[in-house]
Amino acid sequence: MARIAFIGLGIMGAPMARHLAAAGHELTVVNRTPAKAHAWVEAYGGRFSAHPQEAAEGADAVITCVGTDDDVAQVTLGRDGAFRSMPKGALFIDHSTISARLARQLSVEGDSRGLLVVDAPVTGSQPGAETGTLTIMCGGRKRAVEEATPIMQAYSRRIVHIGGAGTGQTAKMANQIALAAVVEGVAEALRFAQSARLDTDKVYEAISGGAAASWQMDNHWHAMARDDFEGGFPVDWMRKDVGLAIEEARANGASLPVAAMIDQFCAEIQAMGAGRQDTSALVRRLPK
Ligand code: NAP
Repeated sequence: MARIAFIGLGIMGAPMARHLAAAGHELTVVNRTPAKAHAWVEAYGGRFSAHPQEAAEGADAVITCVGTDDDVAQVTLGRDGAFRSMPKGALFIDHSTISARLARQLSVEGDSRGLLVVDAPVTGSQPGAETGTLTIMCGGRKRAVEEATPIMQAYSRRIVHIGGAGTGQTAKMANQIALAAVVEGVAEALRFAQSARLDTDKVYEAISGGAAASWQMDNHWHAMARDDFEGGFPVDWMRKDVGLAIEEARANGASLPVAAMIDQFCAEIQAMGAGRQDTSALVRRLPK
């Protein structure tokens, strides 16, 4: 079993770390708001540390699931960053969704310190993290991904090695581009059915088994109908991810007209003060 420093105990990180503890790994956990890490240790065991650098000392693997590029840079390369103390040969696995540019930079920094680095963004949202059934797309060297795989299997059921450093993040952008359009489609269909005064339960029963079926429809149709937008995948994160994709598309020449529109729709929801609500809150900008 491995000694693992796990940084970031949010919606996704806390259950992922729980699966690692249940698999018998020895965990040291770090979180920006320490109370969350103390509560996690109380519930699942392991050790608390206030600093990534301290948590990473002697670790076989450091795993991060924080928020943005800035957060990942801070916990790895910052003043108290994990890269300062990770032993040669240790694994670094980042499950945050960040730019491919930073993922490549971390790979270069890791190489110079003898670390094995994997960019490993996830999809499956909160239910996938809770049930340990996430899909993980990986970028990095073959050996790094091979060593990371048995650890990541504690909370995932599909792990795909896409290619070199940063390609996990680029694949995740493709995931978010496809997903954003589907959420909006489900929201528009729901509002349309409501406007036509149809029984939305019956409409779901009819259309969720056919060509319009989707994970988003299964997981969000009824919640949208109830105006229940708690938990799940926040609008703030959707806007971050669509922004990453648009930035990448500027470099690779892809055209993302719908993603650009979703970026603006998310901005409207953020302006309502609802950025932490689930992306199904996109339905809120459509008149009832
Ligand atoms: P979250 O609930 O906001 O959790 C992020 C956690 O990281 C928080 O507990 C936060 O601490 C901690 N953190 C942030 N910066 C830190 C730092 N500098 N040092 C230590 N801890 C730090 O976010 P999440 O929903 O779990 O998402 C995490 C990542 O996974 C994001 O990149 C997101 O895009 C991606 N993701 C999310 C989902 C989803 O459905 N939620 C799905 C796939 C991918 P505080 O307690 O102080 O806030």
